[in-house]
Amino acid sequence: MKTLFFLLCPALPASGFARAVGDANDPVLSSYFVVPKDQSTMRSIAKVFEVEHRRANGYEIIVPAHRAQELLALAPEAHLIEFDINAKYDRLNGKWLAGYHDFTTVESELRQIASAHPDLATFDVYGKSKEGRPLFVLKLAGNAKQNQPEVMLTSATHGDELIGVEVLFGILNGLVSGYGKDTRVTDIVNHHTIYFIPVINPDGYIRKQRYANGVDPNREYPWPETPDRNPNECIKAVMDFFAQHDIKGSIDYHASGGMIMFPWAYTEDSVASVDAKAFEEVTRRMAATNGYQHGQIPALLYTAPGSSADYYYWKKASLSLGLEIGDSKIPSASQIGKYVKENLEAAYLFIESLK
Ligand SMILES: [Zn+2]
Repeated sequence: MKTLFFLLCPALPASGFARAVGDANDPVLSSYFVVPKDQSTMRSIAKVFEVEHRRANGYEIIVPAHRAQELLALAPEAHLIEFDINAKYDRLNGKWLAGYHDFTTVESELRQIASAHPDLATFDVYGKSKEGRPLFVLKLAGNAKQNQPEVMLTSATHGDELIGVEVLFGILNGLVSGYGKDTRVTDIVNHHTIYFIPVINPDGYIRKQRYANGVDPNREYPWPETPDRNPNECIKAVMDFFAQHDIKGSIDYHASGGMIMFPWAYTEDSVASVDAKAFEEVTRRMAATNGYQHGQIPALLYTAPGSSADYYYWKKASLSLGLEIGDSKIPSASQIGKYVKENLEAAYLFIESLK
């Protein structure tokens, strides 16, 4: 079988051979294209693997290379698109990318913002990853008054989606630098408490690895059909953080695809109609600013159990979105400003919608 696999994949990159299939903490992730023979096959695939993109007549599926046989057992006609989806990002040489925050500069910039604006911003650590890395949060609140709607903006749930961290810092810096100068920004910050969590999954982020300790973190949250789970440490920590705050809405930034998405993800059923209306309205307005697609997650991708948006909506009926930025997980640094710009107005509209 192995021979056949390699025969079928003459374009396997040299780095793919060098890394073999990776290790438990840092598995090589492959992408496959599947045209499912029926919907029940596709449902079985989506239960186990992540549907990354929807194409005209099929789906792009992310599969750890060492588990490729599981996919091929479900869909023998699946064909390999890329053996190592992150090989092009030069993950092995240990260097970070110019223009991007590494884990150290994420912390130092959050601390610097908090110390430069003590009246607005508070730096905190809300837990630890499985490998012991601190989980950072910056609280932004222009008004000490109680009961401002609380908002949570998160990124790098998938540790290889570096552009999310830059967009999050772009929004944070837009609000901090505009406060007291721009009336709209000042109002947003005075009327909300906004929590920025740039790196949900630091063990993945430091490796530019999508997974956290070998598991897909955006499949780790409990959902209504599977309420009893024991999620990875970084997910458990943000669930506890969420439980301790009165979060009215959240955006979990991912990349890529240009999509603004709302629950449910685990089923094609709609959320309660009043909530469906609110989700539709806010995502439509956001999408009008940047041309992204918007809609319920299965309508844009496929059913996906265990995602953050489902969990946050399920627990508190909060306005919880998953947003896929642009068209690349790690665009060239010169493009970062463009991705921040195309997401800034949408983020402002989202926060303003929470009263
Ligand atoms: Zn993602």
